[in-house]
Amino acid sequence: MHDVLMIGGGAVGLSIAYELAGRGRRVHVVERGELGGESSWAGAGIVPPARENRADAPLVQLAGLSARLHVEWAERLRSETGIDNGYHVTGALYLADGPETLAKAEGELAPFRAQQISCEPIDSQRLATIEPALVGALDDGRLVSGFHVPGEAQLRNPRHVRALAEACVKRGVTLTTGAPVEEFVVRGGKLVEVRTPLGAFAAEQYCLTTGAWSGRVGAELGLQLAVKPIRGQIALINPGATVIRGIVYVGRKYFVARDDGRILVGSTEEDVGFDKSTTAGTIRDLLDFAVQLAPALQDARVERTWAGLRPHSADGVPYLGRAPNLSNVCVAAGHYRWGLALSPGTAVVMTQLLLGEPTSVDLTAFRIGR
Ligand SMILES: Cc1cc2nc3c(=O)[nH]c(=O)nc-3n(C[C@H](O)[C@H](O)[C@H](O)COP(=O)(O)OP(=O)(O)OC[C@H]3O[C@@H](n4cnc5c(N)ncnc54)[C@H](O)[C@@H]3O)c2cc1C
Repeated sequence: MHDVLMIGGGAVGLSIAYELAGRGRRVHVVERGELGGESSWAGAGIVPPARENRADAPLVQLAGLSARLHVEWAERLRSETGIDNGYHVTGALYLADGPETLAKAEGELAPFRAQQISCEPIDSQRLATIEPALVGALDDGRLVSGFHVPGEAQLRNPRHVRALAEACVKRGVTLTTGAPVEEFVVRGGKLVEVRTPLGAFAAEQYCLTTGAWSGRVGAELGLQLAVKPIRGQIALINPGATVIRGIVYVGRKYFVARDDGRILVGSTEEDVGFDKSTTAGTIRDLLDFAVQLAPALQDARVERTWAGLRPHSADGVPYLGRAPNLSNVCVAAGHYRWGLALSPGTAVVMTQLLLGEPTSVDLTAFRIGR
């Protein structure tokens, strides 16, 4: 029998499985579709900078722990699997095209400032050294101001989840795909078995890591998890040369430039249920945003568009904790916009929780049933 069965094999489930297996536990990941095939594949892979400081709010502490671990994990995953997850620091620009986007940028920069993480105002001269393709927009007033955060990093989601899955296998984790958990067998205040079309599976403990589906799946276990899907659409464009170099935000929209010159143009936050369609108007808006900001992107090829479902929790804080009604069930879900960034820290604290150890971050604020 496995020690822990993870229900859901996205970045969160795989990261916890990887960490638990590194601590000598026998782990089974049961995934409905493909490993990392949902939000964890679809995301942009941005990892904002954060420092570790016990005085900070618990979510900021989790971000700090995760930011440090990303550096270690990228190296470790490369040496264990040969896969480079693409983690590297590219820096980010937080730009404003008017009062609304300026207020948003100020709001997003506030935690960096509180942590003394470098964020410098930019002018035309400085912008020319960071993102020369955007200088025209600042000079002619399409952009009004902005800040540079040199410590912001990114990774490549598909490579990261592939590296995690391979590293899990190397650590002896059992991975079962194409196996939606459809039924839970509960006896004496404990989950004793989960049932899938591929068979029934049992373990000593269970961890629910079903992302945007966690509200639904949790309800079947009698858990109240205020998690719902929020759709994000993305367009991948290829200008054939380097036009954008790093991460650029203007309000809710952003560029994430890859090393090969390709650029992710994202994104949206749409409350449309479990619908992963891309829509003409939204993709047009994203492409208009890209070309208006950097006219050099006019002839960029549109290579692909997609959408993913972020696991939104009602109060913006993920659920990390034990189920109040079932003694051998834990939940790690609802990371919304930052599930990739927060995944290594989540793996460490959830492993500590599952092993009955004190957790590196106080999990009271993340508890189930709050
Ligand atoms: C457009 C977009 C951009 C994003 N950008 C970023 C970013 O830049 N940085 C960042 O940190 N985050 C980003 N995110 C958010 C991030 O992708 C998510 O927070 C993260 O992927 C959540 O991981 P997860 O493992 O909880 O969920 P998922 O990756 O969705 O995994 C949950 C898994 O559970 C499985 N599952 C569901 N029900 C069952 C069942 N009954 N039985 C078995 N398996 C089941 C699903 O098939 C799925 O594979 C973005 C998301 C989107 C959509």
